[in-house]
Amino acid sequence: MTIAANDPTFTSWVNVPENSDFPIQNLPFGIIKVENEAPRVASRIGDYAIDLKALSVLGYTENLPFSLSDFDASTLNSMMMKGKDGTRKLRDRLSKLFNAESVDLKSKQHHVDQVLIPMAQVEMLMPIDVRDYTDFYSSEQHAYNVGCLFRDPENALMPNWKHIPVGYHGRASSIIVSGQDIYRPKGQKKPPTADVPIFGQSNLLDFELETVFFTFQGKPLGDTISTKEAEDYIFGMALLNDWSARDIQGWEYVPLGPFLGKSFASSVSPWIVTIDALEPFRVAGPTQDNPKVLPYLEYSGNKHIDINLDVIIQPENGEENLVGKSNYRHMYWNMNQQLAHHTVNGCNINCGDAMGSGTISGPEIGMYGSMLEISWKGTKPFQMSDGTERKFINDGDTVIMRGYSKKDGVRVGFGEVSTKVLPTK
Ligand code: CA
Repeated sequence: MTIAANDPTFTSWVNVPENSDFPIQNLPFGIIKVENEAPRVASRIGDYAIDLKALSVLGYTENLPFSLSDFDASTLNSMMMKGKDGTRKLRDRLSKLFNAESVDLKSKQHHVDQVLIPMAQVEMLMPIDVRDYTDFYSSEQHAYNVGCLFRDPENALMPNWKHIPVGYHGRASSIIVSGQDIYRPKGQKKPPTADVPIFGQSNLLDFELETVFFTFQGKPLGDTISTKEAEDYIFGMALLNDWSARDIQGWEYVPLGPFLGKSFASSVSPWIVTIDALEPFRVAGPTQDNPKVLPYLEYSGNKHIDINLDVIIQPENGEENLVGKSNYRHMYWNMNQQLAHHTVNGCNINCGDAMGSGTISGPEIGMYGSMLEISWKGTKPFQMSDGTERKFINDGDTVIMRGYSKKDGVRVGFGEVSTKVLPTK
């Protein structure tokens, strides 16, 4: 299947800076707010937001399966209800309008002035109303590292890990968009030396370098989605920082898994990059023959994606420190398998559900996606450029994640998810 908007030879009449995450081959979707105007749906090219409400009012979305109310909206959910076919047509339309070969819009400067808004004037809002959030645990290196830290290398992977895309149901209400600060959480924890638990602020606050995918409306309760069908139900991806309080988590997680150690915040990047835009960057995943997976988890074709991922700590008034460099291709389980597994029991998915990848760690030191691994449970502090060290995240630190794919001279990226940690409230 050829997706017209992905043509690597396309250029735009809008200036796109070199190394921008947002060339004409990306055209992601998000929610913008400009001054006192109501939020609306937008796309992005270079350093400009594309106001889809304005585009629709001016008649440029005619003959597409969308009405003005789909764009005059504070979330993408209404637009996403049009499914894969609708959103693909919309992205193709944008690709045509902003193509260097096209003059329809370009020749009408008074329209261009209404449609293109410099990013400096735009506030990005939480793009999707997420009703359900699932977080997987699908990076083998991460699962292995955590297994080594809390058990031993011989038994690092649990017996189920290569049979099941392990996951848990997370908390949707505390998913926040990049730029929103969080407060250091507090709660119950039991230090290794203590006999009884104590209450206090988390001292082991950590990030998790992840991606997240958002779903279209699924099938009725009782139905399943196969690995082959999965892509028809996946809208796009964003970067996810799945914040974790390791001390709270360590005491509470037996036997039902993460609870308050995870539910205080999860940060996402504001632009949803469509799966369509990421298609050119597909790569093969690891072989899954030892053990072989059950038939409902089998898939064909390249279903992993080459996405470079960086995680950075920036101390208050300090400079950025790159602490981890990973890649989404290191995943053991891909999104098709995750979605097939999620629905195999008949569980339904809704428009706007969020599914986290799980921490993505690469095979070498320097490629780890959490401070738990980077500092090896606090035994190997990370040396910062200002002379301080980090075992976990300090108050005043900003954690930044960036990601992009690149091939054939085309770079399709996510921008960033950036969150500052404030002292306990
Ligand atoms: Ca996680």
